[in-house]
Amino acid sequence: FDITMNQLQLDEELGRGNYGTVKKVLHKPTNVAMAMKEIRLELDEAKLNAIIMELDILHRATAPEIIEFYGAFFIESCVYYCMEYMDAGSLDKLHGAGVPEDVLGRIASSMVKGLKFLKDELQIIHRDVKPTNVLVNRKGQVKLCDFGVSGQLEKSLAKTNIGCQSYMAPERIKGESQNNLGTYTVSSDVWSLGLTMIELALGQYPYPPETYSNVFAQLTAIVHGDPPNLPEDQYSADARDLVSRCLEKRPESRATYNELLEHPFLVADAQREVDMVGWVERAIAHREALAGSSSQASLPSALDEL
Ligand code: ADP
Repeated sequence: FDITMNQLQLDEELGRGNYGTVKKVLHKPTNVAMAMKEIRLELDEAKLNAIIMELDILHRATAPEIIEFYGAFFIESCVYYCMEYMDAGSLDKLHGAGVPEDVLGRIASSMVKGLKFLKDELQIIHRDVKPTNVLVNRKGQVKLCDFGVSGQLEKSLAKTNIGCQSYMAPERIKGESQNNLGTYTVSSDVWSLGLTMIELALGQYPYPPETYSNVFAQLTAIVHGDPPNLPEDQYSADARDLVSRCLEKRPESRATYNELLEHPFLVADAQREVDMVGWVERAIAHREALAGSSSQASLPSALDEL
């Protein structure tokens, strides 16, 4: 069935991305909490309809590692996209100073399974793998969102925004600079997965602005420098080997999803119990403690602004 705006009770804002805001909503007829993303697009009705049609294939996308899609509609020039609400939010705000190896293994295996599902079942390349697009709930589940399902929608979102943190593979960075968008293959997502794992382990983006003073220096390091890896003193040889198989600079040399699933690090993950529920709980407590202290610290300056 279709969701309409008047069935929704709007609750708090969950976050803001490059293209719009995400709000928590309650679908009143079913009493299901959802996350609703609002994307403002200056498009005519035919194009908006085409996007809604393309998004429809997401109704087939049910896997434990993929955010469930509930429906989409448009009002005037905004597309509203309703999806499963994840009550612990995205990984970029949960990693704290770095996640332990067993948690990293569980996150990596969920991401690989999700990406493999998108590729095998829906013939979709994610194209935007990064910590903000990996969501977590208090049940300890880890799921992917924001994959490029609608060609029309992708075209309409200006992809010019490189931002200050690039998870793009070297071949993509080179391709963009040559204005060649055809270089994106499934292995570009594998690079972004490797970079995401390092960020989760370090608690920060691996090409930090302190070292790379501008975006050009950062992109040069990604294309020409040695790829980063997990810190040797905190992660096992298996974990580090898996990351290095993702961060091969030549896309042809990178591991495939099947190779990653058979890698000793992910085989070990499949065989052990990981207390994801406990980790999520501690990560949320840590995030809230930080938010509390920073909002207090910034209060005087916020008052100055007034
Ligand atoms: P971006 O464009 O940076 O990927 P999004 O617009 O997708 O960001 O989302 C912005 C923020 O909203 C995310 O970082 C996340 O914290 C929150 N968010 C997005 N989707 C959900 C969801 N399904 N459940 C809970 N929080 C979400």
